[in-house]
Amino acid sequence: MNPKVRVRFAPSPTGGLHLGGVRTVLFNYLFARKYGGDFILRIEDTDQGRFVPGAEEYIFNTLQWCGLEPDESPVHGGPFAPYRQSERKALYRQYAEQLVQSGNAYYAFDTPDELEKMRADFKTAENPSPQYNHFIRSRMRNSLTLGKEETGKLLAAGTPHVIRIKMPENETVSFTDMIRGEVSFQTSQVDDKVLLKADGMPTYHLAVVVDDYLMKISHAFRGEEWLPSAPVHLLVWKYLGWESQMPQWAHLPLILKPDGNGKLSKRDGDRLGFPVFAMDWTDPKTNETTIGFRERGFLPEAFVNLLAMLGWNDGSDNEIFTIDELIEKFSMDRVHKGGAKFDYEKAKWFNHEWIKKSEARSLEAGVKNEFEKKGIAVTDDGLLSKVITLVKDRCTLLPDFVQQGSFFFQSPETFDTGAIKPKWDDKKNLFFTELIRAYELSTLWESHDLEKEFKELAAANQLKPGDLMLPFRIMLVGGKFGPGVFDIAALIGKEATIQRIQHTLSLLS
Ligand code: GLU
Repeated sequence: MNPKVRVRFAPSPTGGLHLGGVRTVLFNYLFARKYGGDFILRIEDTDQGRFVPGAEEYIFNTLQWCGLEPDESPVHGGPFAPYRQSERKALYRQYAEQLVQSGNAYYAFDTPDELEKMRADFKTAENPSPQYNHFIRSRMRNSLTLGKEETGKLLAAGTPHVIRIKMPENETVSFTDMIRGEVSFQTSQVDDKVLLKADGMPTYHLAVVVDDYLMKISHAFRGEEWLPSAPVHLLVWKYLGWESQMPQWAHLPLILKPDGNGKLSKRDGDRLGFPVFAMDWTDPKTNETTIGFRERGFLPEAFVNLLAMLGWNDGSDNEIFTIDELIEKFSMDRVHKGGAKFDYEKAKWFNHEWIKKSEARSLEAGVKNEFEKKGIAVTDDGLLSKVITLVKDRCTLLPDFVQQGSFFFQSPETFDTGAIKPKWDDKKNLFFTELIRAYELSTLWESHDLEKEFKELAAANQLKPGDLMLPFRIMLVGGKFGPGVFDIAALIGKEATIQRIQHTLSLLS
């Protein structure tokens, strides 16, 4: 293993970044920061058929939004550039050839039709999709069956071919996973994966090993779905003679559907109405947009916090952590083996806690953006900051600030007079008419001054302040919500307060 901590996130640019992908980024980032190491982002784009334009840029934007920036990447540069596998194409073949020379891989010349025929010929009820493995390979057109001379001829003639790993027939390979402990595999169960494709591009199986080696990766964290490929990678490390440099692996648990029934997919999000991607992703082929946590109004700090808790805890009941606290507390041995159920209500709870704990200042840009999306111009930043402080405890997602606070910036569009009418009478009408006059004459306009005047006037009219609060609230905000009424009146100012009382009185008469 390499002495210096160097970890990598190695996405394939095939679409939006799913929760699980961002969690892998996060665990890499935390681990690197904790041990003073490097965090590398490597783009694994060797499967050109799955390449999606815009996906790479999207990955970088997501990392930036989350505040999880890599130290080395195609964008950030670094000593091991290029970090995009397609740009490293030329360097992989020599390693595949080395494996052929040492007898651990072979050339395979089978055409797509021949492969198709093989699958049809060997198909049985127990084995519906036969794999190219230690048994089948002796029946196919490859350098093992054709012999040296024939192989040489085919190669010289430029016959299209791939290079496959030659999986040993009956070996047990094992490694120690940082989360799962000792994991073993029977090599007979694994097929002869293609390492180098006919177009000269490596597959993931070759490229991941070569690049983890060349980039001096010390620890490799990836999703549990890669566990079945581990024996192939282990053997490639071994056959290339690099075993002592192999990174320590951790296969991260899956993120499960809310009911725990299988892996959480984008489709579950669509079906259940919650985001699964970090940010909005528009598929360039269908032009369909999948909503992201960012656009739903999550704070990046909350998003990162909730991701950390999907499969990890610090051993206490504490669930709210800043990124610095996570760096301090994180350890791979506290990552659970079992999948982590995703609960959207719980995700929102994290955001609510983060909104409550955030300074108004840090929320301003996001809240302003929400108002602007609804066509409400915010020109007074001082007022915005006060409004945020006043209503943030009532907001779970950023758009809630519009619901809870738009009346500070513009008069309500509708007034729920229906809620006032049943208990409305002349005495109350008189009270509010007098209140207008009293407030007009007020020289003081602080919340407690307004409350004092309001209560004194109620007493003089032999009315209970409690019976007047609801009408007053509806006059100011339009409905039965919002923070304390006198705080609202103080903030919207004398003119708006009086104008809204007058307007509602006219609606009631
Ligand atoms: N390119 C693989 C993916 O997108 C990366 C797996 C790994 O980290 O080794 O899932």
